[in-house]
Amino acid sequence: MPAKAKETAADWQLYVIEYARSRNQPMASLLLGAFDEPPVNVPFSFVLAQNAKHKVLVDTGFMDEGGGHEMAVKFDIPEWISPLRMLEELGVKAEEIDHIFVSHAHYDHIGSIDKFPKATIHIQKAELMTWIEALALPPRFGFLTSALDPDDIHTAISAAAEHRLNLLEGDADDVVPGIHVRSAAGGHTLGQQFISVDTPKGRYVVTGDCIYSQRNLVGIKNDGVYAPLGFGIGSIWEQLKSFDRINEEVGHDLDKLLILHDFERWANFQIVKEVEGFRICRAV
Ligand SMILES: [Zn+2]
Repeated sequence: MPAKAKETAADWQLYVIEYARSRNQPMASLLLGAFDEPPVNVPFSFVLAQNAKHKVLVDTGFMDEGGGHEMAVKFDIPEWISPLRMLEELGVKAEEIDHIFVSHAHYDHIGSIDKFPKATIHIQKAELMTWIEALALPPRFGFLTSALDPDDIHTAISAAAEHRLNLLEGDADDVVPGIHVRSAAGGHTLGQQFISVDTPKGRYVVTGDCIYSQRNLVGIKNDGVYAPLGFGIGSIWEQLKSFDRINEEVGHDLDKLLILHDFERWANFQIVKEVEGFRICRAV
């Protein structure tokens, strides 16, 4: 008897939810080589994907408390609103979230996973394990973990003890029907992944921190030469390979990218709500 095909779906709705903003970031920290451009304010966001069966987050934002607050001070993030409050604005309660895909474990992407008690958390095994390894290194290696809140690693381990942690090894299709993960390991972080979501308008990609802007893909001078990120702990080589995979995944239609730190603030999507200046944009 043939193996049963894995269930899939292509009915996802996608929202980008902004929840914080840092100020005056050097453009070269976003686009390597853009040394002569003025600084920009950089938004922070996460994504809600929902259909009739599931409410799923890609990344979670961070809470302005404990280690999260220390990071907000360190990285000069004066504007913040609770990610939970922003979800409530869409009528979504934390207990309703049944899956969370974590692109990578930087504090601004994983920082509120402890607020979603029913969710299964999907992260690359290499991401979690390499952060434990990096934390164990002597303090002189602190640059590696400069955007990591160790409390988030504790939370992930607690989720493992509750059997809510799914450690992925590379690409996987239909982790939740219609949602696929693609490894971008060794670029921005050592276990980075991006997330593909099938919608009525085709496949969209939540880029995590594989890119900060469409400009990483189209080039600083718009010449089609990939511009690496200004910040990462892996290699430029792997970053650029992940750019190519992202491009392929959306058939080179960059309007199908949900870019979490997009300093154009998702101009290609419809704004459905603004709360205290923070946007909720609907991509699909
Ligand atoms: Zn990051």
